[in-house]
Amino acid sequence: MQQNLDYQHLKAQIKNWALEIGFQQAGISDVNLNEAGKHLNNWLQKQYHGDMEYMARHGEKRYIPKQLIPDTLSIISVRLDYMPAHLTPYESLTIQSNKAAISRYALGRDYHKVIRSKLKKLAQKITEEIGDFGHRVFTDSAPVMEKAIAEKAGLGWIGKHSNLLNSKAGSYFFLGEIYTDLPLEPDQKQGFHCGSCTQCIQDCPTDAIVAPFQVDARRCISYLTIENKGPIPVEFRQAIGNRIYGCDDCQVVCPWNKFTHTTHELDFQPRNDLDDIQLLELFNWTENEFLNKTQGSPIRRIGYEAWQRNLAVGIGNIKTNEKTKQKIIATLKAKLDESSDLVKEHINWALNQFQ
Ligand code: SF4
Repeated sequence: MQQNLDYQHLKAQIKNWALEIGFQQAGISDVNLNEAGKHLNNWLQKQYHGDMEYMARHGEKRYIPKQLIPDTLSIISVRLDYMPAHLTPYESLTIQSNKAAISRYALGRDYHKVIRSKLKKLAQKITEEIGDFGHRVFTDSAPVMEKAIAEKAGLGWIGKHSNLLNSKAGSYFFLGEIYTDLPLEPDQKQGFHCGSCTQCIQDCPTDAIVAPFQVDARRCISYLTIENKGPIPVEFRQAIGNRIYGCDDCQVVCPWNKFTHTTHELDFQPRNDLDDIQLLELFNWTENEFLNKTQGSPIRRIGYEAWQRNLAVGIGNIKTNEKTKQKIIATLKAKLDESSDLVKEHINWALNQFQ
């Protein structure tokens, strides 16, 4: 690395390069995440993490960046919009019970791959300018408190639903980080702009936002349909409706999302009509079709069994007339023999909804 670097100038260059590479914004955070660490420990103590043991396992590494990467002096935080243009609105899908409502971030290519590749390009630009420097890139891939880091880097504030919000872009964006040994000056935090609003708390289908900034994952549809490997608790099945992969409700109702910018990234465009497709059509996919059609998509990570489990719950919630009801029952029954015990139990629950 060069000696006597002008770090102010380098910081400005990093922000410009980030934009050139396609990120919407970049900022710098220091490595003091003590406040976020307190919040995390409080959340863990209340068991709000459910079965996500990895959240507790990495302990201090999450909020003491130097325990993860010893020479870290500052963190470059970036954000990337993901909302494709011209989608059937999510709020119109959740009221058409025969359609699948899939979280908007998961309709296209796996964001981990997209962001990692852009972060590597950014690190490469820095290397070309100053020579080798110590760094590691992350995107939701290690014990990194990405929202707290982004907040400290001036990219927004953590809303009462616990997502990051930006006053010019809402909340439909991904985050990524570069831990670095460069002593870059941290940016200023943005103000907190939720005010007295509690819309996300009121409208959560399963009352998962148990208090401002406190999401009980055990009640959260994103957790129940993605992270959860076991049965979906019966008490939440009707409230889940047709949300078969994640849930966007707390973001959809947030007034700041009127400032959402759509993305130009081709990678985030919907694949296989996942933005507007019937539950029964998805349920009829064989395992091979599932694996082929979700190649390179974040949905593939949950596996075919959890996919079928979620779809069975969605189908059990379809409101329909007598004629279609018989078709639904026949479709559900046709899958019984070939399904695992977990999926069978959800199919039987769905069949019971049509008694
Ligand atoms: S819905 Fe209201 S309270 Fe919730 S994150 Fe948005 S502004 Fe904050």
